[in-house]
Amino acid sequence: MLSRNAIKFEAIAGLALVALVLARSASLAEDTIASKHDIERVEKFKAVVIDGVEARRKLAQVMNDTVFSFGELAYQEFETSKYLTGLLEKNGFSVERGVAGMPTAWVARWGSGRPVIALGSDIDCLPKASQKPGVAYREPLVDGAPGHGEGHNSGQAVNIVAALAVKELMEREKLSGTLVVWPGVAEELLGGKAFFVRAGMFKDVDAVLFTHVSDDFSTSWGQPTGTGMISVEYTFEGESAHAAARPWRGRNALRAVELMNIGWDFRREQLRPEQRSHYVITDGGDQPNVIPPRASVWYFFREMDFENIKKNYEIGNKIAEAAAMMTDTKVTRKVIGTAAPRHFNKTLAETLQSNIERVGLPQWSEDEQTFAKAVQRLAEGKKDGLNIAVKKLEAPAARPESGGSDDIGDVSWAVPTVTLRYPANIPNLPGHNWANAIAMTTPIAHKGIVAGSKVMAMTMIDLLMRPELIQSAKTYFTDVQLKNNKVLPLLSESDQPQIQLNRETMERYRPQMRKFYYDASKYDTYLDQLGVKFPTLTKAQ
Ligand SMILES: [Zn+2]
Repeated sequence: MLSRNAIKFEAIAGLALVALVLARSASLAEDTIASKHDIERVEKFKAVVIDGVEARRKLAQVMNDTVFSFGELAYQEFETSKYLTGLLEKNGFSVERGVAGMPTAWVARWGSGRPVIALGSDIDCLPKASQKPGVAYREPLVDGAPGHGEGHNSGQAVNIVAALAVKELMEREKLSGTLVVWPGVAEELLGGKAFFVRAGMFKDVDAVLFTHVSDDFSTSWGQPTGTGMISVEYTFEGESAHAAARPWRGRNALRAVELMNIGWDFRREQLRPEQRSHYVITDGGDQPNVIPPRASVWYFFREMDFENIKKNYEIGNKIAEAAAMMTDTKVTRKVIGTAAPRHFNKTLAETLQSNIERVGLPQWSEDEQTFAKAVQRLAEGKKDGLNIAVKKLEAPAARPESGGSDDIGDVSWAVPTVTLRYPANIPNLPGHNWANAIAMTTPIAHKGIVAGSKVMAMTMIDLLMRPELIQSAKTYFTDVQLKNNKVLPLLSESDQPQIQLNRETMERYRPQMRKFYYDASKYDTYLDQLGVKFPTLTKAQ
């Protein structure tokens, strides 16, 4: 039985509890009002930047088509860089050129204060991938010339259009924040971003939003499918001799290359199945009757993690030394590029994903679907047309699959980073192939770029208006990503960007390619300039 005092006490305690609850709900209500106001502001701003992107639909198409028509190889992106930096300067960005020892590299900045958001996308193309766009058959624009057989012509349009839409709003609303736009130079050689990181380009950056062309609309966090790698060229030096008259006087550098390749190919059996490695002979001698005094072979050593990349690189070095010993030649090596295995930021990926789901895939027309299927048939891929549904954001695989590399990996260990894959190309194509260039100035690409640009602009609004997102991205970066992984340097202090690569090839083809540069002042689209009616499914006989 309770005493009177006890009842009285309980009543008082009860009142106190009620008071406490009331006080708490009052403060909760205030929080709710404040955050409701913030949410409304974020939503209002997102609607403004979506309109801002829509208003720049034409600019997106012109940028995309222009860069496509330049078709420049790694380190030779001179026209592309001149065009993009000129456009950024005209729009109020300050541009620093020739960064990190690469003449075609640049960084453009606008705004002041935090957060600093850096938007990146690759700009280079592939050898021998020249292809007339908008037609579902093989026809190079210039036979043997390089071309955008991956679609790197589209990413800067995604980023710059988003940046301009957000800048316009930031000026009007006097928002704090700095926008940085930068190019992936020589991505196809994995030869740009590690040098950017080494030069300190991302030192003051809070978040990197990277974009890459795709056939779906997606992002990811943690380690995605794919590898990191070291790209290295071995050069053997011997002695020439008359190959018939005095072959015993020579020391054959080409034989050293062949022995190295045989050694490596035999060693593959003892390597982890996740490794990927490939080589091309870049110098195999001059003519058969001269014993080659010099020969070179270029290797990519790819693996899933830093330790295994380094391990395979060391095996390669040992085999090269052994091949030199067998042939009495000398070997030297030159690192041409590196790519760290990628690791993407969870908070940034979740933020991107929420905006991807809001924008959704473009509404593809029947013409676009028909064209996509025709290109899939041409490339002998599965013929199911363009993607129509957004993928869910999934937790990273416990054991990610092997595959290609991207030097955005290096950036991802320097600053919280995420990649948006936007839907500007056709699924089921071979990749690194002329067929991947076909859609890249069609309405398929143009729609995908605008969709991607909207997601980028909305995500920038999230990061500008919600400092807790930047904080959370940093916490994931330091407390999860860096804590659970061992990062090893792949690039050494003495490695330099090999900016002479592709120079001769571009010099050879540029005069013919120039005739196909897009003149946006004369033609509405690049397809108009080429006289291509979209969709063209078969070649006129
Ligand atoms: Zn790429």
